[in-house]
Amino acid sequence: MTKHANNLSIDAKRLWNDLMETARIGGTARGGIRRLTLSEEDRRVRDWFKAECEKLGCTVQVDEVGNMFATRPGRNGTLPPIAMGSHLDTQPTGGKFDGVLGVLAGLECLRTLHAADYETHAPIMLVNWTNEEGSRFAPAMLGSGVHAGVFDRAYADSRLDSEGTSFAHAIEAIAYRGDVPAGATPIGAMFELHIEQGPILEAEGDTIGVVTGVQGMRWYDVDIVGRESHAGSTPMSMRRDALPAAAALVLAVQGAARACPGAVATVGTIAVHPGSRNVIPGAASLSVDLRHPDAGALDGIEAAIEQALAAICTEQGVTGTLRRIWDSPPVPFDPRCLASVRHAAGSLGYRMREITSGAGHDAAYIARVAPTAMIFVPCAGGLSHNEAEDASFDDCGAGAQVLLRAVLDYDRRLAEGRQEESP
Ligand SMILES: [Zn+2]
Repeated sequence: MTKHANNLSIDAKRLWNDLMETARIGGTARGGIRRLTLSEEDRRVRDWFKAECEKLGCTVQVDEVGNMFATRPGRNGTLPPIAMGSHLDTQPTGGKFDGVLGVLAGLECLRTLHAADYETHAPIMLVNWTNEEGSRFAPAMLGSGVHAGVFDRAYADSRLDSEGTSFAHAIEAIAYRGDVPAGATPIGAMFELHIEQGPILEAEGDTIGVVTGVQGMRWYDVDIVGRESHAGSTPMSMRRDALPAAAALVLAVQGAARACPGAVATVGTIAVHPGSRNVIPGAASLSVDLRHPDAGALDGIEAAIEQALAAICTEQGVTGTLRRIWDSPPVPFDPRCLASVRHAAGSLGYRMREITSGAGHDAAYIARVAPTAMIFVPCAGGLSHNEAEDASFDDCGAGAQVLLRAVLDYDRRLAEGRQEESP
């Protein structure tokens, strides 16, 4: 057998079997998975993952927040490993592919390297990040966030689920508190394969999304204050009604996002006070979720919304405040990693397009500490965080093949000295 990187083919059927086998751990009657982080189901899939990696001769280490690192040695043991990874935890009514595909495709890549006895230059590592979903313990992407220094271990330990159980208690209950200090595992680069969780690739007939970054996200609270008064005896001209002002702002938010290509904005909640049929609303509070891949564009839309709010308040005789309560900056992925993904998808002949991620991912935090990129494959109808979430056999296989070739391309560039060895 010629051990050339371009001859290595992943086994799509073996990957699919792994997806279907592990989907039984926490499998739901409607074909989804309920595998909450640090639950008994999570323990079972972690045990499975560890055993499968060890069968391939990998060393599996666990850090103190439960992140699992399976390492396959390379020729140069001094190099930080090139990582593949995602998450095996799911939403309470999650699907079979979100996160799981990225980990199991990485496992399939390791199986392929192992079967071919292929030696890479740098070590190759597969990571299962703890609590990506954030549905049992908020916030999301907790394990990768701790690794990247966004949160510390004590913060992770203190998180409580809805029953009052702490992260610290839960991780010890399933015996996945490892002894590797959080953040101590070096990563030379990371590639995360994930389903798109949106409709674009499917709609355009593309197989591979080259994810150039994760869009920035800002959350706002808006409070509008008018004056409560009698619905029957207050003339229209003398009202200070908070709700029409809020309604106008909802449309202004929509208009500001529509005016800026690539932007999405959502008013997801609105509360009206006092909430009585015959009382003119004296106050209204709403939330705004704003996202765009570019920070400058976010600034522009934010200014437009502020301006609209001021004009609406004058017009309606009310007062209003807009407070930014959360700012998650856009994350551009690494050009060297992206070059390897483009090369991989191109050399395999897949239809591809560039895309930005609308959702957060572990890769967004890892990008702070290592060169990182993501690969998307389509999911049916763009549906995710749903038991009906679906991705095709062919697309899962294509994603795994691109993942393997991108990792090997990055490794080859390292070996040829075309990339600094310690990014
Ligand atoms: Zn995910």
